[in-house]
Amino acid sequence: MQRHRLVVIGAGFGGLFAIKALRRAPVDITLINGTAYHLFQPLLYQMATGILSEGEIAPPIREVLRRQKNVDVRLGWATSVDTANKIVSVSGPGIEYQVEYDTLIVAAGAAQSYFGNDQFADHAPGMKNIDDALELRARIFGAFEIADLQTDPDDVARWLTFVVVGAGPTGTEMAGQIAELAHRTLPGQYRHIDPHQARIILVDAVGAVLNTFGDHLSTRALRQLHLMGVEVELNTKVVGMDATGIEVETERGHERIPSMTKVWAAGVAAPPLARQIAEVTGAKTDRAGRIHVSPDLTVPGHPEIFVLGDMMNLNDEHGVQLPGVAQVAIQGGRYAARQVKRRLDGQPPDKPFKYFDKGSLATISRFSAVASVGKLRLSGFPAWVIWVAVHLFYLVGFKNRVTAVLHWAVSFLGRGRSERVATVQQAFARRAIREYGDPFTRALDDR
Ligand SMILES: Cc1cc2nc3c(=O)[nH]c(=O)nc-3n(C[C@H](O)[C@H](O)[C@H](O)COP(=O)(O)OP(=O)(O)OC[C@H]3O[C@@H](n4cnc5c(N)ncnc54)[C@H](O)[C@@H]3O)c2cc1C
Repeated sequence: MQRHRLVVIGAGFGGLFAIKALRRAPVDITLINGTAYHLFQPLLYQMATGILSEGEIAPPIREVLRRQKNVDVRLGWATSVDTANKIVSVSGPGIEYQVEYDTLIVAAGAAQSYFGNDQFADHAPGMKNIDDALELRARIFGAFEIADLQTDPDDVARWLTFVVVGAGPTGTEMAGQIAELAHRTLPGQYRHIDPHQARIILVDAVGAVLNTFGDHLSTRALRQLHLMGVEVELNTKVVGMDATGIEVETERGHERIPSMTKVWAAGVAAPPLARQIAEVTGAKTDRAGRIHVSPDLTVPGHPEIFVLGDMMNLNDEHGVQLPGVAQVAIQGGRYAARQVKRRLDGQPPDKPFKYFDKGSLATISRFSAVASVGKLRLSGFPAWVIWVAVHLFYLVGFKNRVTAVLHWAVSFLGRGRSERVATVQQAFARRAIREYGDPFTRALDDR
């Protein structure tokens, strides 16, 4: 008799934890992921600023799941789901294929949103994947190199001005790390510029940094950013952008900030697959394209399709929308796995999904973080210790944990950065892809 066929789309937190929870279940799992690695997104900013390597935050999925014999890992982007015939169509490099399912778990995460200004992406890479982080690394370290070659003080200033858009955890962490580069790592290494001259500007349309952490921690974070020399521009909306600067509407009026290096850390949108699934199932989506799921994380009317993590929209028991954070995806993945097992065992469905909020963390600089855990509000060094412990716990793979600790010691106890290499291709590949097309699509066209 054929075993139950479970197809999982996405090897992020949601997909991976669902699969791991099914390691002993009598199911044949096919995991489809667009990349060959699982990405630990919360540490992307450390990759972009030269602290960690890409290998440390993105272990190969095959290696992670090598002992789990009921999983077949397949590379490719799921392009559509045929719910009538229960088939997922996949576009791999130079090959298109289909996979049949009895149950489908969709955990394809979120993409960057530029709020309708996609042209900003050329000038301000987002922080969603390894390509983004490598490009940012090339741009950030490259900016100091190019500034060192300039003779006009205005050009030096333009190359030494870094604007980070979005003062949530990612933007705050990014701004903090660029400030550490300018003030701790790079001074003394250039003969024509002083890296201390660098301006790091953190911009947000709302009136607080780390808005979701509450007033107390938000104020702490703001103070720490000021101490580090980060200029924080709140209630400031980005209205335009080009290669040499950024246009903003502030409380003072319209302004242009000359800057060659911009980082976009604001806004998420569900991937295109969410729209296709919503269309064929009739499911509702929110403004960001996330699918409104039933309380058991299935698509309404389709108990065989689970949608979880960043791709779903679900309110908690107080009517508040669950946030797009790793714990929502992890707990959702485990919940979906439990439901699958219960069905296979002929048991009634579990109670509706209930998210247990374990708290929020964000680092601002070395030895300084903010932590909101239950009623506890911590900042400074104690919060930073919790941050280190939590990130080590969830980082996948023993060897990655060991090397991450070594690299953190280099950067936090010392002043160095172990991963400063960036290639020209990493800096300019975005333009090539735009001009010549996505490599996957091209491979298909060339056949
Ligand atoms: C820069 C950054 C920092 C963050 N920091 C934190 C933090 O500090 N704490 C926290 O809790 N959360 C943080 N988050 C959020 C957290 O990473 C996400 O909530 C979590 O990763 C969501 O898990 P997921 O499984 O839904 O999606 P993801 O982890 O994004 O995984 C989705 C997977 O699906 C794959 N995929 C996408 N589309 C397709 C397709 N069509 N076909 C096949 N595969 C596909 C992707 O390649 C990816 O592997 C951060 C996110 C970012 C981007």
